[in-house]
Amino acid sequence: MRIDLHSHSTASDGTDPPAEVMRRARAAGLDVIALTDHDTLAGHDEARRALPPGLTLVPGMELSCRLDGHSLHLLAYHVDPAHAGLAEQRHAIATDRVRRGRDMVAKLRDLGVDITWEQVAAIAGDGVVARPHIARAMVAAGAIASPGQAFTPEWIGAGGRAYVSRYALDPDEAIRLVASAGGVSVLAHPGASQRGWVIGDEAVERLARAGLGGLEVAHPDHDQAERLRLAGLAATLGLVASGGSDDHGRLTGHRLGCETVAPAEYERLMSLAAGAVGGGGQN
Ligand SMILES: [Zn+2]
Ligand SMILES: [Zn+2]
Repeated sequence: MRIDLHSHSTASDGTDPPAEVMRRARAAGLDVIALTDHDTLAGHDEARRALPPGLTLVPGMELSCRLDGHSLHLLAYHVDPAHAGLAEQRHAIATDRVRRGRDMVAKLRDLGVDITWEQVAAIAGDGVVARPHIARAMVAAGAIASPGQAFTPEWIGAGGRAYVSRYALDPDEAIRLVASAGGVSVLAHPGASQRGWVIGDEAVERLARAGLGGLEVAHPDHDQAERLRLAGLAATLGLVASGGSDDHGRLTGHRLGCETVAPAEYERLMSLAAGAVGGGGQN
C-alpha cells in the first residue's frame, strides 16, 4: 500500500485543482492521498467527487502556527468541517493572509518590484493567499527567474526585506482544537533546517503532551540524519512516524508519492482520529 499524507492544490498554493491532484495521485500509484491545503478544507468536496477508483482520500489541512516567534506547520486530518472553533480560526488566518499579502506587495513595490495586489489575487484565485502566489507574480514581472528565488532575505523569505508576518495559532491550542474537532495532528517537516529553524526535542515533547499524534519523518526537505533523529524521537514519544511529498504541482520538484508512510503507521494515525471511519479511511 502506498500512502502520501501531504499535498496541496489550488485551494491554497498548489498549482493543480483538487481533481487534478487526485488524478495524479492515482497515476503515481498511490492508494491513499491526503489533501492538506494551508488553513482551508475547501478542496475536499472537489477531490471527493473526482476520486479515482482504488484511491482513498484523507481530508486534511496544514494549519499555520507560531512557536517562540518561529513559523510552525501542523497537519490536521479528519477534522469535523462544521466545528465552530476551528472554522473561526481558519477564517481569522485566511483574512489576515489577505492583509499580509497586500502589505508584502506594498513593500515589494517600495523595493522597485512592479507587481500589484490585483495580480496576486488573480493568481491565488479562490485559494487561500500565500507567499508562492506573490512569488509567481514576481516571476511574471521579471523580478526573479523562478518562484524559489523569492524565499530569500532579499525578498519574502522569513525575516526578509519585504516579509510580513501574520496571524498564526499557538501550536498547543491548535492541537487541542484539532482534537476537539475529532481530528488528529502531525507536526509538518519538523527537521527542515533550510526553512531557517528546527524545533527542539523538548518542544516536541511538550506538543506530544498536548496531544500531538505524529511527526512527519519522511519529507523532501529532510536529509537522512534528520529522518533518523525524528524517527527516534517519534519512537521515544510514542508518536506516529508519518510522511508525505508536500507536492505543490508545478511549483516544487516534489512529486506525489516521492515520500510515503508505512501502512502500519498510517493505520495507527487514523485510529487516533475520533472522526475517522475504520482503519482504512473512507472513500
Ligand atoms: Zn508546511
Ligand atoms: Zn505543505
